[in-house]
Amino acid sequence: MTDRAASDSPVSAFTARFWGVRGSIASPGPDTVRYGGNTSCLEVRCGAARLVFDAGTGIRALGALLMRQGRPVDLDLFLTHSHFDHICGLPFFAPAFDPESRLRLWSGHLPPDHTTRSVVCGMMSAPFYPIPVDTFRADCTFREFACGDVLRPAPGVCIRTGPLNHPNGAVGYRIEYAGRSLCFVTDTEHPAGGRDPAVIELVRGADVLVYDSTYTDEEYPCHVGWGHSTWQECLRLADAAGVGRAVIFHHDPSRSDAALDAIAAAAAAQRPGTLVAAEGMELVP
Ligand SMILES: [Zn+2]
Ligand SMILES: [Zn+2]
Repeated sequence: MTDRAASDSPVSAFTARFWGVRGSIASPGPDTVRYGGNTSCLEVRCGAARLVFDAGTGIRALGALLMRQGRPVDLDLFLTHSHFDHICGLPFFAPAFDPESRLRLWSGHLPPDHTTRSVVCGMMSAPFYPIPVDTFRADCTFREFACGDVLRPAPGVCIRTGPLNHPNGAVGYRIEYAGRSLCFVTDTEHPAGGRDPAVIELVRGADVLVYDSTYTDEEYPCHVGWGHSTWQECLRLADAAGVGRAVIFHHDPSRSDAALDAIAAAAAAQRPGTLVAAEGMELVP
């Protein structure tokens, strides 16, 4: 079901593939086989340009595939933020250890006393990790931008950025290419009783919205202030902002395949075309 959106679409140079759809912590096991247990990682292809959003555990399998497909690997990696579930796959991303490959790592959520490099160095240091970032053999450049900046990492690719409501900050991305647009908005919490104006502005009229749907509306009252949203809020936001397809993402680690099937059915009944993100799912915005 979840691959249908891509296979029904005409061949396009603008594609997106999910490598990790889970939030908070990886959750492998028999109950998560179909939707997947890896944490946040989305690969976006814009013509020859390869963009990766987040380096959760899902990025490991992407790295292995890229190495099999042929070196050098050349890509831009954009972090939504630096919570562990969004960066902990980076030390297991094989292209980072390939001297022929070139990686550009970007973040826009950090306070002035931190940099993209200092965050990665901090993660890859004792007593948390056995080898330092200096063991990366790829040509890695670490870059920062100001949230709100417009980035142009490759010809014809425009990435708009905007702030999300999340502890320690996070960045939402809107990728525009060939007249189409896809928004990657995780992790974020909606304001009480309404929409976040900054998020509305970022996603308005987008063809696809991938959105933090960690909770259900029923679960949310026990998690106010935790920085996450609901799948029902995803649909309300999509309606309010005139979005085309909504994609439910950043699944709670305890959400089983059966529970996600039920959410998929309810969401599609309420807003036809809505998808629940699954590992391996491909979309053509
Ligand atoms: Zn997260
Ligand atoms: Zn987070």
